[in-house]
Amino acid sequence: MASTARATRLAPTPSGALHLGNARTFLVNWAMARRAGWRIVLRLEDLDHERVRPGAHAATIAELAAIGLDWDGAPEIQSADLAHYRAALSALAAKGLVFACTRSRREIRLAASAPHQDDGETRYDPSLRPPEPWPRAIASWPENHRLRLDPAPEMVVDGWSGRHEFDPGLECGDLVVWTRLDVPAYQLAVVVDDARQGVTDVVRGDDLLASAARQQVIARHLGLPHADWWHLPLLDGTDGKRLAKRNGAHGLGELLAAGATKERIAGWCAWSLGLLGEARPVAPAALVELVEPSALARGVLRERAARRVVTDADLAWIRGERATIPDPGAPASNASTSAPGASVDGA
Ligand code: GLU
Repeated sequence: MASTARATRLAPTPSGALHLGNARTFLVNWAMARRAGWRIVLRLEDLDHERVRPGAHAATIAELAAIGLDWDGAPEIQSADLAHYRAALSALAAKGLVFACTRSRREIRLAASAPHQDDGETRYDPSLRPPEPWPRAIASWPENHRLRLDPAPEMVVDGWSGRHEFDPGLECGDLVVWTRLDVPAYQLAVVVDDARQGVTDVVRGDDLLASAARQQVIARHLGLPHADWWHLPLLDGTDGKRLAKRNGAHGLGELLAAGATKERIAGWCAWSLGLLGEARPVAPAALVELVEPSALARGVLRERAARRVVTDADLAWIRGERATIPDPGAPASNASTSAPGASVDGA
């Protein structure tokens, strides 16, 4: 997307569940932005009422600050004003693309949040659609609404990993865009916000790559641009599953309370991506130099080929309990990669 004023966003869900993987994504996002001069929007994605805990807004902001991040302007709080999302849903309805639906509590619940790998998403079959034509105006807001998504290939171009073809109509089918709690679903909210906040570069976890395709379709229906995408590999725990709050030792709050410093977190994140030859504490500001685009691309692509497992030794080093991390031989600084389509010129 051509624009002179580029911007990115840090978009945590204030659920009190930030972990080392989130921290690494945010730190890389922040450092890329500061290096390239992108404006940074902090957006608290608090529309998922089941996941947002009381007091978690302030706690999330404090955790981001504790790992050395800052941003430009006051935080954007999604729940503060739903008018933009209502306008977008109305625009989709006016095009005859939206229908009200009463099915699947679970799907509706899942739609509130960004979809992650193990959510067990099921496709909404077109045979379940009500007969057309569908109402051109929203008759009742506190109701589940879906956006028509017919099968069609949708190409996502990631700044690091290149082209990925999806077919949202086959993968998820008609997408929940509004819920009966009278809030927009994640996919609609993120499209509306990225556009209105001028976001040109989205840096986030790899599990949202398929969502990028859905967001492109929604943006196109709304006549909005979509951002350039940068999807970072997720970190796994020793159980082989992606990090989540259930692996308590990886929690950012737990790590900080147990002696982790922002310098150790930043140093570990840089080392894990091959941006440092050894794990050593560095000031978060030093990441701005370390995220040199081609070095970062190499680290990202290497990890896409083999996801990094966060070991007990890693965690102990981050907590300051040990001086070195036994090197499994993985983070060679000039590792080559066979992943196709890498583009390293974006930042
Ligand atoms: N708040 C979302 C999450 O927790 C991030 C969504 C995004 O970056 O698009 O995964």
